[in-house]
Amino acid sequence: MVSHAALESWAGAGRVTCSFVNWHVPSEAIKTLAEVGLPRLDTRFVPSPQGGEVPVLSYGYVLGREEVEEGHQHSDDCSECSYFAIKEGAGEVLYGPPRAGDGEVLTVNTSLRYFVYFLHKQGAASSRYSQLPEEVMMRRYERVVNRLKNHDLTAMSDDSSFWRQRFTRLWG
Ligand SMILES: [Zn+2]
Repeated sequence: MVSHAALESWAGAGRVTCSFVNWHVPSEAIKTLAEVGLPRLDTRFVPSPQGGEVPVLSYGYVLGREEVEEGHQHSDDCSECSYFAIKEGAGEVLYGPPRAGDGEVLTVNTSLRYFVYFLHKQGAASSRYSQLPEEVMMRRYERVVNRLKNHDLTAMSDDSSFWRQRFTRLWG
C-alpha cells in the first residue's frame, strides 16, 4: 500500500485529498480514502470525492475528474470533463462521461488501492524525469507504465481498459 507521505512527496503538500465517506464500497476503499488519500496528478486526475451515500453518476461514486485542459474553470454543470468513479458494491474504479449515454464507460482498476498505486507510479515518474530531455523522459516513462501492466492485469486485459486505451494512444 502506498502511504500518504509517499503521495505528497511528488504531488506536494496539501495536494493529496483525504476524505471520510459513507459509501457502499469495500471497507478497504473507505480506509484508503481516509488514510492514504487521492493525489492530484496535473490535469490527468483532479480529486473531488462526492458527498452523500448515493452515487452521483450512473456508474458510481465520484472520486475525481480528468480536466479537459490546463486552467479549465470547472463547474457542477460542466459537460467537458470526464469522471473517475468507484462502483457501488464491488468497488471497481471506472472512467466515463458526466452523463449516462454520452460516451463509453471504461474499466480503470479492479480496486481503489490499485488506482492510487497507478497514480503514484506515474506521478513519481513524472516528477523524477521532468528535467530530462523529452525523448528520454518518454522512454523512461513508458518503462514505468509497462511494469504497471504486471499489477492488476484484469483491469488491462481488454479494449474496455482505460489504461490500455491511454497507453495505446500515447505510444501505440
Ligand atoms: Zn469541467
